[in-house]
Amino acid sequence: MIFDNDGVLVDSERLANTILADLLTEAGLPYTFDEAVRDFMGGSMVSMRQQAEVKLGAPLPADLEDRYHQRLFDGFARLQPVPGVREVLDQLDAEGITYCLASSGTHRRIHTALTAVGFWERFEGRIYSSEDVQHGKPAPDLFLYAASSMGVKPTDCVVVEDSPLGVAAANAAGMKVFGFAAMTAEEKLASADAIFHQMTALPALIRVA
Ligand SMILES: [Mg+2]
Repeated sequence: MIFDNDGVLVDSERLANTILADLLTEAGLPYTFDEAVRDFMGGSMVSMRQQAEVKLGAPLPADLEDRYHQRLFDGFARLQPVPGVREVLDQLDAEGITYCLASSGTHRRIHTALTAVGFWERFEGRIYSSEDVQHGKPAPDLFLYAASSMGVKPTDCVVVEDSPLGVAAANAAGMKVFGFAAMTAEEKLASADAIFHQMTALPALIRVA
């Protein structure tokens, strides 16, 4: 099992996209929360900058990522796990199903988030970041890197993702993918093998995978 982090393990997307929309607006590119979710959720800050600079027609402030992470990490003091995911991980542990994490976030962001919700020990040594590969999601690179590092064939992996970029990456990697449609509209995850809306529904999907 390969878990996405933001929006799947940690309930960070509302905070993250609010901050991002604010910073882009302050930089002269007016963005709402919903537009930030639509355009950037699930992607890396590297690809966010590339897309936003094309729209703006000018470079974004050089310190935008630093200010984003500063505000985000301040907010992570109140970060919560996605409801029900702790119980899912407990069940995977009990059943001996191996799992890891593959995120578009930086290693520092992943570490900060996992520590805040008490998940660090569960994933330590099994964490893969877009920083580790040349092309982040929606390219397959990150998931393929995670699978090879774990010594598992891509066709034996199941990805849990909440963003269209992540579902596309899993499709490209030839992996089965379950789309978590909690914050994301179901139709945007249509290329997933299954869609679920609450973490309590995940164990049943895993059993038939
Ligand atoms: Mg996500």
